[in-house]
Amino acid sequence: MTLREQNYWLTTVEMPKTDRLAALPESVDVAVIGAGFTGLSAARILARQGAEVAVLEAESIGWGASSRNGGMVLTGLKLGANKLISMYGRETTQRMYAASITSIDCVEKIVREEGIDCDFSRCGHLEVACKQKHFDDYARQVEVIAREFNHPLRVIPKSELSEEIGSNIYYGGMVDEVSAGLNPARYVAGLARAAQRVGAAIFENSRLHKMERETRQGLRGWRLSTSRGSLWAKDVFAGTSGYTGTATPQLQKKIIPIGSYIITTEVLPEPVARELSPRNRMIYDSKNYLYYYRLTPDRRMLFGGRAAFFPENEQTIRKSAEILRQGMISVYPQLRDTKIEYVWGGTLDFAFDIMPHAGQMDGMYFAVGYAGHGVAMATYQGEKMAEWIAGGKNDNPFASIPFPGAPLGLYNGKPWFLPVAGAWYKFLDWVN
Ligand SMILES: Cc1cc2nc3c(=O)[nH]c(=O)nc-3n(C[C@H](O)[C@H](O)[C@H](O)COP(=O)(O)OP(=O)(O)OC[C@H]3O[C@@H](n4cnc5c(N)ncnc54)[C@H](O)[C@@H]3O)c2cc1C
Repeated sequence: MTLREQNYWLTTVEMPKTDRLAALPESVDVAVIGAGFTGLSAARILARQGAEVAVLEAESIGWGASSRNGGMVLTGLKLGANKLISMYGRETTQRMYAASITSIDCVEKIVREEGIDCDFSRCGHLEVACKQKHFDDYARQVEVIAREFNHPLRVIPKSELSEEIGSNIYYGGMVDEVSAGLNPARYVAGLARAAQRVGAAIFENSRLHKMERETRQGLRGWRLSTSRGSLWAKDVFAGTSGYTGTATPQLQKKIIPIGSYIITTEVLPEPVARELSPRNRMIYDSKNYLYYYRLTPDRRMLFGGRAAFFPENEQTIRKSAEILRQGMISVYPQLRDTKIEYVWGGTLDFAFDIMPHAGQMDGMYFAVGYAGHGVAMATYQGEKMAEWIAGGKNDNPFASIPFPGAPLGLYNGKPWFLPVAGAWYKFLDWVN
């Protein structure tokens, strides 16, 4: 097969059908913007509690990062424990870390309750050290995470690393058995079906252009103008992640969209797959400019990374295939002659402090900022925000932390500084 510039996961699933000609309702209780993990998990809970919900999706179900990702359902946050404690204090940090563990249970529970066939498996994740210094730091991290969060991680010395990975370029590893893997396109399709079953209406090809405050029958709410007409909603929840645009300008200014790219190989013979990843872990390395990789359920090597910093377009996707192939061969020289069959890209959402954020902004609810760690966290945030919107308590630790914008406000949603940031992170990887 020749190389296809196409998301491999989408070849494994049939997305749920929606009526693409149906008119929008005149009014709803909640309009959810974005049909990814965040929006759909919120819609499922809201509709289950009896709310009238319209999910407005500019493209199609799962079109954003939710169908394009590596399917790694990961524990933890992007920043280290000590850094988090210094920023937010011990109690808030402990609640945020606990949420990162609960978020995996949350995915597992939905998969089980809704019978979603998405190859969910608690296979654990493995972080591999690109430098001796990174490996030395693992022992300290294991100790801090056990002490502060009562969560066990395991250090794997280089001498035992072959039991975890068929590559000898690393200095050792660190395993978390709680993490999981799944097929993200099947998962997002299952979430959409689950939301539809309890009455949420999903409108594809319905881009929100503008939202303004409007009071209707004495109720304060929003008038939403979309590419498919207009509707009134009492509440609005934005789960637009790296695709946040000008319809929600205040949110757009807080999010940096960053490209991430993935290749998958042809199907590998069983012994080769077993040699590359004997325990079928979700794997990523210790660099800033990192590689992440795993076997797919049908035994392809899926290999991802930030081959270009800019969000996906035809050019960056084409270039990424060769950059990632070279990266893959540097990890696994045994794949030198293996064919690459698929390449695609997607957009990550980074806040300026690299933390997830949720809450209310000018009256609109939102949850964003997953920084490549969103499969579990987006699902969890959707549920937590839905409970809050439905009148339940707001016990979401990420809703209580400050959401910083760009230094000096020098950002209008167009990430002009990405080439500089990319070069800076490459430099940091080189010196550290
Ligand atoms: C290549 C790649 C690999 C990744 N790998 C992993 C991984 O292995 N593990 C992990 O945990 N995370 C990973 N992530 C991150 C994870 O996929 C995301 O954090 C998660 O999918 C975010 O879900 P979401 O629902 O918030 O956003 P999305 O799935 O991006 O959905 C947002 C939706 O909003 C819609 N939208 C935007 N604006 C409007 C508008 N004005 N009107 C209507 N609709 C609108 C978009 O069309 C889009 O469909 C990866 C991301 C990428 C791109």
